[in-house]
This record gives sequence, structure tokens and C-alpha cells, in this order.
Amino acid sequence: MIGMWSNQTLLAMDGLILVSFWKPLVLLATLCGWAWIVSNVYDKHAARFFLPRENWNLAHLCVGLVAVVVGFGLPIAEPWAFFVSWPAMTLLLIGSLAAYAIAANRDERVPENFKIGLRMLSEMQKKREAKKAVKSLAVVKLAIRGMDKQLVQPPQAETPEYEVRAAAEDVYIKALLARASQVDLTPGKDQTYLPVWLVDGVKSQGEAIPAAMAVKIMDFWKSCAKLDVNDRRRKLTGDLVVEKDGAKHKVRLTSIGVTGGMRLTMLFDPDIAVKRAATDLGLLNEKEPLNQLDTLRAIVADEKRGVVVLAGLPDGGRTTTMYTIAAMHDAYTQSVQTVEFEPQLQLEGVRHQAFDAQAEGADFGTMVRSMLRRDPDVLAVAEVPDANTAKEIAKSDNDRTRVYACVRSESAVAAVEGYVRAVGDNALAAKGLRGVVAGRLLRRLCPNCKVEYAPAPELVKKLTGGEAKVERLYKKGGQVLIKNKPEVCPTCGGGGYLGQEGIFEVFPIGDEERELIAAGNFPGLKAAFRKRGMPSIAQAAIRKALMGITSVEEVQRATTGPAPAAQGAAAAPAKA
Ligand SMILES: [Zn+2]
Repeated sequence: MIGMWSNQTLLAMDGLILVSFWKPLVLLATLCGWAWIVSNVYDKHAARFFLPRENWNLAHLCVGLVAVVVGFGLPIAEPWAFFVSWPAMTLLLIGSLAAYAIAANRDERVPENFKIGLRMLSEMQKKREAKKAVKSLAVVKLAIRGMDKQLVQPPQAETPEYEVRAAAEDVYIKALLARASQVDLTPGKDQTYLPVWLVDGVKSQGEAIPAAMAVKIMDFWKSCAKLDVNDRRRKLTGDLVVEKDGAKHKVRLTSIGVTGGMRLTMLFDPDIAVKRAATDLGLLNEKEPLNQLDTLRAIVADEKRGVVVLAGLPDGGRTTTMYTIAAMHDAYTQSVQTVEFEPQLQLEGVRHQAFDAQAEGADFGTMVRSMLRRDPDVLAVAEVPDANTAKEIAKSDNDRTRVYACVRSESAVAAVEGYVRAVGDNALAAKGLRGVVAGRLLRRLCPNCKVEYAPAPELVKKLTGGEAKVERLYKKGGQVLIKNKPEVCPTCGGGGYLGQEGIFEVFPIGDEERELIAAGNFPGLKAAFRKRGMPSIAQAAIRKALMGITSVEEVQRATTGPAPAAQGAAAAPAKA
């Protein structure tokens, strides 16, 4: 067949293939560019502003067909043809684009910033860059805001700042997953820092972080709260609001220099943590004498105001108890005030006074005295740090002012004894005392996974003194059966406990007790409290085990340790 073709034809074909190889491509590319604009930009634009979209598309199509005829119709093998057909085709296509642009830009339905022009290209470029930026930030999971509500901007991906940000977020996210109320980053061994979580009052450790990274993480969080990152020694405090998947938490940051570096504490939702209704504190609310709630209400309502001692250990729920009791007074008919080192919460109607320890000549006792001089109805003193403060409280006007004196102590009797010793005058201290409330915290069993069991008779005897019949108790689970397979309990995350509540001693102080106190007879005071049949902290804890709120193991943990109060657990059983 090839033999039949003349040499000339073959040459012409060569020419077509070799010379014009790029020419059809240029024509095609021009056509494609035009088609893209018409279908992707113009069609949407017309639809958006209710321009006659179908008519325009038809018009573009017609022009396009003519352009194809012009572009590809001329004898393309001729060397000159392309240089006529391509400009002609381009002109036609540009003409169709321009026609729409002119018509659309004249139309009053199209707002100024949507007019068609070269500016559109730069807008599109901007949009594309914004999309790219969002993509590169997709791994940042937290929205972090300082108290000025300004968002802390995430850094670009693959930068060192980004790595720090991700690691800092990780500390927060892991703490929240663990249901921690607080996380400390604190110096550990071998140039590392340890995250320590506080979950329902119990500490647990996370994986060590190399010191170099930990310092950057701490600096990052500090800078979010606008704290001085160069000050690694003094105590600095700042607040943040952190949001993840719609869940917002207030975070109180505290940094302070410690041995081996700096400690950063993140306290989650400090105000919620100290806010409870009186009925939700954990006070026993059973038949007399097991009704601590009513006993406390009676103490609060006592017309003879005087002094009530509130006792607890650090992190033992004492601040919550103080706020709750302060809130039991009507702040609208009475003047209710507090004096605190760090107010955690603003109670409605209550005047909170913060003590600034760094101010010149600052003295807590002096501040308490000056507040008492103004005759408030109620003054809650969050700390009795020295004898001077105790003396000022004891000298207060017992008929006019109710003072709540918060002391560090593990039991009611020890608290009263400590307070009286600090005052240094038994008779003066005894005269004003109206009651004492001591408390600590106990973990509640997770209701979703707690495990029921029939206790051995010896255990029941030990718990109740043999008076009560106990058919079932509960212990922690941590797992649930899902489709007959044990899985980590989704409610508590496998810990077996969920939340905490208080266990208390609530004792009114009457004439008999005041005499014993004035005489310095504290064992006698203890006996007098016991005689009333009101439960001790250990007995209150046992009640909670019997009610299925907690486990016997947790009763042990919460009532032993630093607290001698627990010694009475078996010896002085609760009356069931
Ligand atoms: Zn559970």
C-alpha cells in the first residue's frame, strides 16, 4: 500500500507529523482553557446572580463551534495556516468571554465585588492559599484563648513551633482523657519531666517528656496566658479557655520554680470544682443522728453566731466546703465576705477579698482584723496561717459575726485543738466556738461498672460491729461486657471510680463542749462528740460503702494514711 503513495504525499505527511505536532496541542489547550472558564466560572456566576444562564451557555457553545471550525478547518499542513487560525480562534473565544463579562458587569444584580475582571484571579489565588493553610493546620486540635478572648494562632505545619504546639496540646488532651482535674508537669529523673494527673483526688503518672521539650511546652502554655516566660522562679498564675470539639474548659495555669526546674500546673475548671450544692457535698442525710445535712443547716442558722471551725487537708475539698457553707447564708439580706489567698470563685452577692502576700507589710491577721472591724454578718477566713490570725478570730464579736475559720487538720477534734492552741487562751477560744466541720474526699464507684458481691461475715462485722445485716457490697470494676466481650468501661475510662464526694464530721459545740475546751480536755471533747452518736469521718465513709456509693478498699484508702481519725473505723461502728 505504501508503495502506491507518491514521495510527495509521504513528505507532506512527514510535515504534518513533525512540523505541526505542537500546533494542534496549542489549539486544543486554548479551547480547553476557554471551556474551563465558561463551565467553571461563568456558569456558576450566571446561576448565582440569576443571569440568563442557559442562553449564555448556548451562545458560548455556538462561538465555541465556530472557533473549532476556524481553528481546525484551515489546511493545517500549510506553514502559514496556524498563524492565522490560532489568533482567529483565540479572538473569537476571548470575544465570547468579554461579551459575557461586559453584560454581567453592567447588570445591576451583580454586586461590585463580584464584577468579572482580572481581580477575580487574585481572589481565587487567595482562596486557594487559604485552603492550603487550613490543610496544613489540620492537626492542631485545640482552640486556645487567653482571657482577652484572642485565639492563639496555630503555627505552620512542619516548623519547630508546630512540634511544640502539638506536644503541648498532647499534655492537655491526655489529661482530659484521663478525666484529670489537674495536671502537673514536674521535673523527674535524668533530664526529663513527668506529667502527673490528679484523677478524683488520686495521682497518676504519664510518660516522661525530655526536659528540653518539656520546657518549651511549659513556655508555650505560659505565653498563651501572657505570663512572663523568662520568670521561672516566682509563682505566676493566669487563665485560659481551651476548646476541643466544642467542649470548653477554663484552665488555670500556675508556674513556680522548684528543685530541678519549674513546675507547671494546669487546673481544669477551677470554679466548677469548688461549686457544689449543700445537698451534693456528701453529707449524710439519713435518720437522726445520721443526718449531717440538717446538723450543718442548724449550725449555719444559729442566731448566736460565733466561730465555726472548718477542717480539711490540702486538696481535701475544704475550699468547696467553705464556699458551699458561705453560699448557705443569704448574701442579699446579710453581708457575707471572704478573705482568701486565691479566690477560686465569685459567689453571687459575696464580697471576696484576696490577700496579696507580696504587698509591702502584708499580714493576714491584720487584714482579718480590719475586715472584722466592719462588722460583717459572715466572714469566711480561708486559712489560719498563724497565731495572730487565730487570735483576731477569737476576739471577734461572737454575737454579731459568724466567722468560719478554715484550718489544716484531719479531724474535728484535732482541728479544734489546733485552733485553741493557736489562740493561746483556752477560755477566749472556747467562748466563741459554735461548731466544727471536718471533711475529706472519697471516690465514688462508677455506677456503670461497679461489681456487686456478698461480703464475708467477718468483713460485715468489722464494718458494722455486727449489728447490721449486709447482703451486698460493691467493688470497682473498670470493665463492661459489650457483646459478651469485656471492654474498658467507657464511663470511667477503666479506673472503676467516677467523681468524688466528701465524708464529714459535723459537730455542734454547746455549753458542755465549751467547758471541756476551756479546760483543755480534748479527749473529753472527743468522747462528748461520740456520745451524741454523730458519725466520725471513718463512720461516714463506711455508711457510703454500705450504701453502695463506694468500695471498702476506697474507705480504707480515704480514711487511713495521714489521718489518725481512721483508727476509730472498726472500734466505733456506725449504727445501721
Ligand atoms: Zn466504669
